[in-house]
Amino acid sequence: MPADDHLQQVREATFAAYQRYVNSGLASLLKFMGLDVVEERAQGALVWDLEGNEYIDCLGGYGAYSMGHRHPRIVAAVQEQLGKLPLSTKIMLNRPLAEAAQALAEITPGELACSFWCNSGTEAVEGALKLARLYTGRAKVVAAHNAFHGKTMGSLSASGRDLFKQPFLPLVPGFTHVPFGDGEALQTAVAGDTAALILEPIQGEAGVIVPPPGYLRQAREVCDRHGALLILDEVQTGLGRTGRMFACQYDDVAGDIMTLAKALGGGVMPVGAFIATPRIWSVMEPNPLLHSSTFGGNPLACTAARAALAVAVEEDLPGRAAKLGEHALARLRELAARRPDYVAEVRGRGLLIGIRFAHEDVAGLVIAGLVQRRILAAYTLNNPTVLRLEPPLVIERDQLDRALDALEEAVEQTAALVGDVMGTTA
Ligand code: PLP
Repeated sequence: MPADDHLQQVREATFAAYQRYVNSGLASLLKFMGLDVVEERAQGALVWDLEGNEYIDCLGGYGAYSMGHRHPRIVAAVQEQLGKLPLSTKIMLNRPLAEAAQALAEITPGELACSFWCNSGTEAVEGALKLARLYTGRAKVVAAHNAFHGKTMGSLSASGRDLFKQPFLPLVPGFTHVPFGDGEALQTAVAGDTAALILEPIQGEAGVIVPPPGYLRQAREVCDRHGALLILDEVQTGLGRTGRMFACQYDDVAGDIMTLAKALGGGVMPVGAFIATPRIWSVMEPNPLLHSSTFGGNPLACTAARAALAVAVEEDLPGRAAKLGEHALARLRELAARRPDYVAEVRGRGLLIGIRFAHEDVAGLVIAGLVQRRILAAYTLNNPTVLRLEPPLVIERDQLDRALDALEEAVEQTAALVGDVMGTTA
């Protein structure tokens, strides 16, 4: 059988297995987007499918690939650990965990120092919410409209989009939501019975929403006034994504608890963590097994995290994101000025960029146009009118420019298509 036929058969078999054993709705969605191809390998900002086609990754695994795919230093560290002890005995000292926890404490702002390690962003948020309840002895939590904190019961309760919440009601009680970026709303929502205020410093899945300057300082102040804890969810924004190591540093504010995941695994392992001040952490110490996880903090994951933290610092990923982000935002704003009827707004910081289209269908057509040009992109989970650009921070400038060229072409192609349809229907 010719090699090409064989590859096509593998692709079809994978698709059929998706339809039958994974989720037929997801299979249809991928097909509709032209992404019913099998991912095969990746390096840096590039991904290849089974048939050898090359894609520029502008989705970056929803932010997991800040260090790029298969960063050599992270892969080498994990390979070495794999040869020694991948998972922990759980009852002896775990050196990679200790080293990762120390490395994280050294770069996080304020007095954040003690951390618990888990396997995903949503677990980090669950842990943060439990710690806030434990420390304050209160149960109420204030969160923001359209927030995204994950999809397990606690983090879903903190999230702000009904589409994902409604089918699972009732969720965890005690959550109220306020408009994001509105300092006044915080003043009335946070009170003496509030355990925590949880915020993303820049909302990612809401459509990349940058709050007004000083918003996080207002959040800090209102929490301090009422003895509530400020949980900053940096799962998506952390480790350089927005042009600072942590997005809260734009407002010079530290949370009482910070959650991290995605890039923390260096694009090689699934890793999450929540980190708090020693004073808050002290309530976890009388019973250190009050919160636990079999796989959380495993040596492979922590080895990846420690290498990822070193890469973020030594390769100055925040600086790279800031510089490349400025370039991308400038080009995109020119596009918005040329095509205001299609590109309604461009916003973001560093390499967390949202492009809001005038209509959901326009966003869908532009994404399809990008995929045709072999650029991987998607919309934000809580706002389908917004296309997110979230490439690996190690992306080369010419790769980014190729992706931006493709985006401009895809917008023009969509405009021509919409123009034709309007002409036909007029
Ligand atoms: N928090 C934020 C800010 C996120 O953006 C996400 C995921 O997109 C999560 C939490 C949940 O992370 P995970 O998908 O790893 O559970």
